[in-house]
Amino acid sequence: MNRSLVKQLRALVGKENVLDADEDLLLYGYDATPAGPVTAPEAVVLPGDAEQVAAVVCLANEAGLPLVARGAGTGLTGGARPLRGGLVLSTQRLNRVITIDEENLQAVVQPGVVTEQLQQQVEARGLFYPPDPQSRATCTIGGNLAENAGGPRALKYGVTRTHVLAAEVVLPQGQLVRLGARTVKSVAGYDLLSLLVGSEGTLGVFTEATLRLLPLPPARHTLLAVFAELEPAARAVVEVMRAGILPSAVEFMDGAALRCVEQYEPCGLPDSAQALLIVEVDGGPAQVAEDAAAVDRVLRRAGAVEVRLARDDAQAADLWRARRSAGPALARIAPLKVNEDIVVPLSQLPRAVTGIQDLAAEYDSRCAIFGHAGDGNLHVNFMADPSRPEEVTRVEEAVARMFELVVSLGGSITGEHGVGTTKQAFLGLEVPAAVMDVMRRIKRELDPAGIMNPGKIFPLTENDARAKDE
Ligand SMILES: Cc1cc2nc3c(=O)[nH]c(=O)nc-3n(C[C@H](O)[C@H](O)[C@H](O)COP(=O)(O)OP(=O)(O)OC[C@H]3O[C@@H](n4cnc5c(N)ncnc54)[C@H](O)[C@@H]3O)c2cc1C
Repeated sequence: MNRSLVKQLRALVGKENVLDADEDLLLYGYDATPAGPVTAPEAVVLPGDAEQVAAVVCLANEAGLPLVARGAGTGLTGGARPLRGGLVLSTQRLNRVITIDEENLQAVVQPGVVTEQLQQQVEARGLFYPPDPQSRATCTIGGNLAENAGGPRALKYGVTRTHVLAAEVVLPQGQLVRLGARTVKSVAGYDLLSLLVGSEGTLGVFTEATLRLLPLPPARHTLLAVFAELEPAARAVVEVMRAGILPSAVEFMDGAALRCVEQYEPCGLPDSAQALLIVEVDGGPAQVAEDAAAVDRVLRRAGAVEVRLARDDAQAADLWRARRSAGPALARIAPLKVNEDIVVPLSQLPRAVTGIQDLAAEYDSRCAIFGHAGDGNLHVNFMADPSRPEEVTRVEEAVARMFELVVSLGGSITGEHGVGTTKQAFLGLEVPAAVMDVMRRIKRELDPAGIMNPGKIFPLTENDARAKDE
């Protein structure tokens, strides 16, 4: 990057907060996406407050320089990867919980706050921030807003958007604005906050969020149900939801996923099973005990060969550790793991899981499924050896057929990871051309210079900003 731009950036955020050594640039070219292009940025900027973020965005806009906001880089669709060089704007110094307002049940936080750290701080005061992406020990609130992250508890409590009351955002032309209101209700004008949440860093940079909190549920029970076959497990999810109980989570793992977890980090999972469910209920102690007993009955009736109730918090934590290990465990055995996060209406879950397994057999591909089955959201992992191109092609074809299946069942190609770069080719299966056109026009209107995370959601175009060295 030309020295005068680096000098201007250093003047804006301080010398030590602009990185341009080769090893730093390489590090900020990656995220957790297993495949896809890796391109280093030309400089990494670490602003210390919202005004500095605005000044950096203004400079990028004037210079026509691509800018990619980055939280912890745990995204799975290439969102934080700078495709065209330019700047990576890291929120790692914006990591303060500004207030926890117990009277109004709100927390005001900077975007670089790690999700689990916020949860621990509010829980210490008897409050609850439900969104729980399984990366919560490292991912950030800014990344969660940008991806509209979900997690197991989205079933009962909703995804991140449900919990964002207001946000401060720097728009692509550098304006620092507040969206939403610090009230539970507000219908003043278009809901631009909802547009920005889930926009994958393409329409603005979050610099602050006002989050809605809930009272912490006093009790929680966790059950594990083991199934000898796959389809009854998928049906059991539907049955649990029909039984008049709303669990806080219903998680699913197929036989391939659970055996892989056992090899990676033994958690005592029954490795002969073809599927298991982890069901969590929360609320008042008496109600939770009643709900757990009812869930136990429904699961057994639906064909579970064994149902275990975690005796205490430690046992429940072990079950959740097993579930959280599924992604890393699979990544260890397969050099290329295509991790999709499809969603289907709940009633279509059995058809989706059996259909996906049929596709894996047809394309002779290794496949493991786990995920947030209670809201129909499954992580489907097709695995391949990248040194065998013919194996990779089979996986690509199986994935394309899976997306067609999902859309034909009334589902969506992505429930929580976003489109990024990896799902662009399939967006048109789900989003009609006229709607796609509206989306592109919104992007052009807010970001005429095409600087804000170019090449995400939509492929790169002539109008997008490019690296100064290109
Ligand atoms: C093991 C594992 C488990 C996961 N489980 C889940 C899960 O259960 N549910 C789920 O939803 N996701 C899950 N994810 C995906 C990922 O963790 C989430 O998408 C998370 O929200 C990303 O946060 P991050 O801070 O790492 O963002 P990054 O990866 O740094 O960035 C993600 C996107 O957000 C944008 N962005 C980041 N910060 C800002 C900001 N301040 N303003 C504007 N844009 C910004 C980036 O430009 C990028 O497009 C998982 C990932 C892993 C590796």
